[in-house]
Amino acid sequence: MDRISWDQYFMAQSHLIALRSTCTRLAVGATIVRDKRIIAGGYNGSIAGGTHCIDEGCYVIDNHCVRTIHAEMNAILQCAKFGVPTEGAELYVTHFPCLQCCKGIIQSGIQTVYYSVDYKNHPYALELFEQAKVKVVQVELEEMIIDTKNKEKLQFVANLIGKLADSDISQHEIKELHQHANRLFTSYI
Ligand SMILES: [Zn+2]
Ligand SMILES: [Zn+2]
Repeated sequence: MDRISWDQYFMAQSHLIALRSTCTRLAVGATIVRDKRIIAGGYNGSIAGGTHCIDEGCYVIDNHCVRTIHAEMNAILQCAKFGVPTEGAELYVTHFPCLQCCKGIIQSGIQTVYYSVDYKNHPYALELFEQAKVKVVQVELEEMIIDTKNKEKLQFVANLIGKLADSDISQHEIKELHQHANRLFTSYI
């Protein structure tokens, strides 16, 4: 059995929490880690108890949704709220951080940023990270760890098997293909 690496595990965690995002423009997730332990997690969304973009649309000013707090800041603020030190911590985030978050990350003492997807990578953010000696590493998530397209794939395979049914393959074989696909797409062990 292949063992999942720490990088993949923490990055998968960030992709998982991104699914909690309430902003329709982009779903971002962030996980703060110290000594290989998750100390905080955040996604981009409104303030607690506030109106959600998914319910009332984004509040856009200058092409930015101003309603949301970014995932990285939410994770850092969770540490502030509960008095957990971020000094020397590592951050795993689904998208390259914006300039505001970059500054927050540096100022909180986080030393390494692992990000998955390039996203409008600002040269000034890179310059600031470098200046503050914050290591920035791209870690792409190996797709299958969290499969958000599972239903889509099952449907696709079901359609393919449906088309095969029109050929001269036996009903028995078709039934076996259906059962195999169902097992693959619905069982996790
Ligand atoms: Zn929004
Ligand atoms: Zn940001």
